Amino acid sequence: MAYPFLIRGVLDDLGDSFVVTDTVALAEVRLGDDVFSPLTPATFTVTLSNTGAGIVLSGTVSARFRTICVRCLCDFESDVTADVDGFYVEAGDDADLPEEQEREFIAEERIDLEPAIVQSLVLALPFAPVHAADCKGMCPGCGADLNEGTCACEGHVGSSPFAKLKDLLPPGRAEDADGR
Ligand SMILES: [Zn+2]
Ligand SMILES: [Zn+2]
Repeated sequence: MAYPFLIRGVLDDLGDSFVVTDTVALAEVRLGDDVFSPLTPATFTVTLSNTGAGIVLSGTVSARFRTICVRCLCDFESDVTADVDGFYVEAGDDADLPEEQEREFIAEERIDLEPAIVQSLVLALPFAPVHAADCKGMCPGCGADLNEGTCACEGHVGSSPFAKLKDLLPPGRAEDADGR
């Protein structure tokens, strides 16, 4: 267990709850070609509640990562925040639970908080991260960073993602292809 939490004496009775605020170390995360390097540990605040059926975990987690913009290839940092959910039950006590209820098991009166916390954060990482929503990316012709200005080849290579479509359309339709 990477982050064991002893529930005995804390969550013994129905309605008992406990708040945990702490940090857990993070490893580098790879999602496809994107690499997210943690700059901080994951900081979380979660509430554990005994609902009778089991122990419910809910709260939030955040961390700061460095990654590379998929459009302009610059390094940038961003804060990622996620909701955390979990449900923990004694092995053998889960027979009555609906099948779709996700569950982790309580082992020796302990639950491991780390998997739910880290997984929530990883799921909140962006697919195809961009350093800014309006990042203009790089010129497909010369590789210039178009956030820093236009380049000499603009106009005949074209920075429109639809530029190539023009070649596929019959003459006369080209104006429609990029909306101009
Ligand atoms: Zn960018
Ligand atoms: Zn260019």
